[in-house]
Amino acid sequence: MGYKKRLLVLDDEPDIGEFVRDVAIESGFDALVSNSPEAFPSIYSNDIDVVVLDLMMPGIDGVEIIRFLAERGSNSSLVLMSGYNAGVLHSAQELASEHGLHVLGSLTKPIRYDDLERLLADAPALQMTRRKSEANLLEKPGVEELRAAIGNGEILPYYQPQLDIASRALTGVEALVRWAHPQRGLLPAGLILELANRANLLGDLTNCVLHQSLVQCRQWLEAGLKTKISINMSAEQFKDLELPSVLEDQLRNHHLDPAQIVLEVTESALMQELAKSLDTLTRLRMKGIALSIDDFGTGYSSLVQLHRIPFSEMKIDRSFVGNALVDDEALAIVKITIMLGHELGMKVVAEGIETQRTWDLLEELGCDSAQGYFIAKPMPGNQLLSWFHSRSS
Ligand code: C2E
Ligand code: MG
Ligand code: MG
Repeated sequence: MGYKKRLLVLDDEPDIGEFVRDVAIESGFDALVSNSPEAFPSIYSNDIDVVVLDLMMPGIDGVEIIRFLAERGSNSSLVLMSGYNAGVLHSAQELASEHGLHVLGSLTKPIRYDDLERLLADAPALQMTRRKSEANLLEKPGVEELRAAIGNGEILPYYQPQLDIASRALTGVEALVRWAHPQRGLLPAGLILELANRANLLGDLTNCVLHQSLVQCRQWLEAGLKTKISINMSAEQFKDLELPSVLEDQLRNHHLDPAQIVLEVTESALMQELAKSLDTLTRLRMKGIALSIDDFGTGYSSLVQLHRIPFSEMKIDRSFVGNALVDDEALAIVKITIMLGHELGMKVVAEGIETQRTWDLLEELGCDSAQGYFIAKPMPGNQLLSWFHSRSS
């Protein structure tokens, strides 16, 4: 024992500062209050475990404090408070996360004892987070290891089913990259992509997933299962003018119809490269290959851009889908995306459906297809057939 977590609360209203301090002390913290944003930089030190921050203060606002903490390379966990609407808290939370800060959660004023107590109970001790991130660093495989893995078959796609919401029929599967590492076990997409990005291996990685997916699609077809397959592309690949003909050749070699593949690209990545990609995107569509805009709602596309690009499908990001039942703003985004997609003649897919209730909501809102743990988690190619037959029997 011996180690007591430390908390610093910054709020220009003394009453609220004291209230937070009292809850923190009850929760076993050493707690300190500051009522002056100007003095905060001199009071703050890097060994504070938790900072509770009021966003709206006269003079300096909370956003400036967030920037200060980011510049200091702070490891403290953050709790954000605001009397304004939830939208302000969301964007501040996002900003802090983008700066690499760890956000424990946010609270709308008036603050309830229970809510704050619950957040504080989840606060990791600083020493723990630091130790954990150091350990993670040691564990991560290296770039050369990834290069070898792409060549030796350790990189492979898992497949996650998508269902038509109205008929519940299987409409397609999304290929999601995994690394079957001989020592470390199955590694997730995020880690693989981060490495691939650093090593300029994103193109090789996607081609490796694409190739295996086409082989798999052919095998399923021969076993009597005809399904579309969605591949996640990096936006960079659409700048390659050869892509349409290369893909066409690959489809022909595997005796597959272009209508069986869907190329996904994330909204945020695509919009940065739009002008350079329009040529390739248009020709892909002309060849009958479907294009899907992934993680919709997290990027910044304008209505004009959406109208210009020849997309056939829109995938609503799972952060909105997952929260639609508890967060009015997430619900509004889901509703508007479905309407917008349909108006533009696109099919709309909801990602991240985890419960029956979310499925029911999306059905009610007229969404076309669904993907998520509620239906099935991503699985190896050789398990899809038995999953498929077990649900139809
Ligand atoms: P994405 O394309 O948006 O894929 C959906 C992600 O959500 C997948 O994460 C999937 O496993 C996860 N997911 C699906 N349903 C649920 C659910 O109900 N709950 C929760 N919590 N998560 C769910 P994954 O496999 O970790 O992939 C992350 C991202 O990595 C993908 O997001 C995609 O952008 C990227 N990615 C995956 N494979 C590839 C690839 O081969 N090439 C490229 N360039 N990117 C890839
Ligand atoms: Mg995707
Ligand atoms: Mg997505």
